[in-house]
Amino acid sequence: MSDQKVAFITGASSGIGAGIARKLSQAGYAVAIAARRLDKLEALSDEIASAGGKALAVELDVTSEEANAAAVQKTLRELGRLDVVVANAGLMPLSDIDALKTDEWRRMIDVNVQGVLNTTAAALPTLMAQKSGHIVLMSSIAGRKVFKGLSVYCASKHAVAAFADGLRMEVAPKYNIRVTCVQPGAVASELYDHITDPNYRQQMDELAQQMTFLQPEDIGDAVAYAVQAPPHLDMAEMFVLPTQQG
Ligand code: NDP
Repeated sequence: MSDQKVAFITGASSGIGAGIARKLSQAGYAVAIAARRLDKLEALSDEIASAGGKALAVELDVTSEEANAAAVQKTLRELGRLDVVVANAGLMPLSDIDALKTDEWRRMIDVNVQGVLNTTAAALPTLMAQKSGHIVLMSSIAGRKVFKGLSVYCASKHAVAAFADGLRMEVAPKYNIRVTCVQPGAVASELYDHITDPNYRQQMDELAQQMTFLQPEDIGDAVAYAVQAPPHLDMAEMFVLPTQQG
């Protein structure tokens, strides 16, 4: 087995996932970067390689259980091991409930919730067999409180937080697998680009004028800290906010 630890990161073609990939690469991990947009993944992989790191671009739609399993197998085949799994892929198309944008509701549940479960399920057999590993699940400030217009998104991120807590209770003591639930506040990324409701789009633009958002690499630093903590310490939750966000 290679000496270099391996991290598998979903939603790594932009924003927070890319920031986590950069920071884990700088921390010495080989990174498997997964998402649907292969061109973006390949550009990030080249960037990481130019900086002296090792990255594997993996095309993945997290809503497919089989595709997650295949992505983890590809990572094991090409990078030789699996130490850290970051289930980060997600989307946030905001709208009022009475607009009944049920397609957007469904996509949020499919990606933000089922996607996280699929990625976890794909990685667990390897981590359980080796009795070590670290699973990082991306929740949100919206996984701690509810905001108007974010009902389904908040439901999805509360689900991730609840799952992370239960997962940790079951797999940490039994299999020596650490679990970290990350709950960022506002981070500058492509997340807001997918909001189709013009009022909520404007609201998010105004929020960006009111405070200095976190950068994806800030969350990357937090994740790097959690996964490099001493083995007896499980950083179970990380609530990471812009200083100006209430
Ligand atoms: P981005 O839109 O920049 O990144 C989202 C990532 O998810 C992209 O890489 C996208 O890649 C990927 N993704 C979306 N759908 C799928 C899919 N079906 N299969 C695989 N990958 C998918 O936003 P962020 O970086 O901000 O978001 C990352 C995570 O952080 C999300 O879970 C979000 O909810 C959470 N978060 C973000 C906050 C913020 O303020 N930005 C705050 C708190 C939490 P591709 O399109 O190539 O598939």
